[in-house]
This record gives sequence, structure tokens and C-alpha cells, in this order.
Amino acid sequence: MSDVPSRPTGACRTCGAVLPLTTDFFHRDANNATGLKKQCRVCACDEAKERYAANSADVLARLRSRRIERTALWESTGLYEAA
Ligand SMILES: [Zn+2]
Repeated sequence: MSDVPSRPTGACRTCGAVLPLTTDFFHRDANNATGLKKQCRVCACDEAKERYAANSADVLARLRSRRIERTALWESTGLYEAA
């Protein structure tokens, strides 16, 4: 009455969840012996989101500094009135 797993499982390196070693739960990784990443899809997705968030924060910071430069230019011309 023990549930014998029909497929091998693997623990996610990041969250520790034990999941079937299939592409339903892990992204493919040709460099791994299992052919799958050691991180579950959820964690890989989270990481991608974080990376995206970090990148967009970087982009926003760059845009903001541009705007400050622009504002300073406007101020120097006397055409911009700061509130
Ligand atoms: Zn995970």
C-alpha cells in the first residue's frame, strides 16, 4: 500500500519541492544528466521575474536620471518652473 512512484522525482534546488522529473515541472537543460534543470518551473519563473524586475528598475533609474538632466536643462533655460 505504499505509493510507488511511476516516474523518478527530483527536489527543486531552490524551494525543495519534490516533483516528478518531467518537463511539466522542470524546464529542459541539456547540460544536466536528467536533461532537466535542478530548479522547478515555478522557481525558474520567479527568478526570471526578478531578473526582469531588476532590469526594469535599472531602466527606470536610467530614465529618471535622464529626466533630471532634462529638468536641469529646462531650469537653466528659465522655461521650467519647479512646483
Ligand atoms: Zn522550486
